Amino acid sequence: MTTIFSKIIKGELPADKVFENDRIIAIKDIHPVAPIHLLIISKKEIPDLQSVESEDLPLVAEMISVAQDLARQFGIADGYRLITNNGSNAGQIIFHLHFHLIGGRKLGPLVGQG
Ligand code: AMP
Repeated sequence: MTTIFSKIIKGELPADKVFENDRIIAIKDIHPVAPIHLLIISKKEIPDLQSVESEDLPLVAEMISVAQDLARQFGIADGYRLITNNGSNAGQIIFHLHFHLIGGRKLGPLVGQG
């Protein structure tokens, strides 16, 4: 499983990096849907949320903690969405675990948003 995100993690492709440690990288989404649209990506190659195993749960918890920190850093801690698309029926394009952190404008209801 090698996706565009693995290449970004290895430094083979450029990205607008906003956070990195040994386990997680966060970048700005190339096609933002809101003024703030970040991607919090595991360095471990896990295809999607459904593939997360119990041993990965601390990593997922840390990804949420990174999202909280980034929300504060980017001034959206009072209102944001943290989502992951699981599977192609949910619109997943890149099969490498990541969360979208979206905010910076009034977000509409999820219902009816396709
Ligand atoms: P998903 O549908 O959850 O798999 O979303 C993948 C996201 O990655 C989309 O929002 C894309 O805009 C974003 N994306 C794709 N290629 C890049 C890239 N090179 N740098 C930053 N974001 C990207």
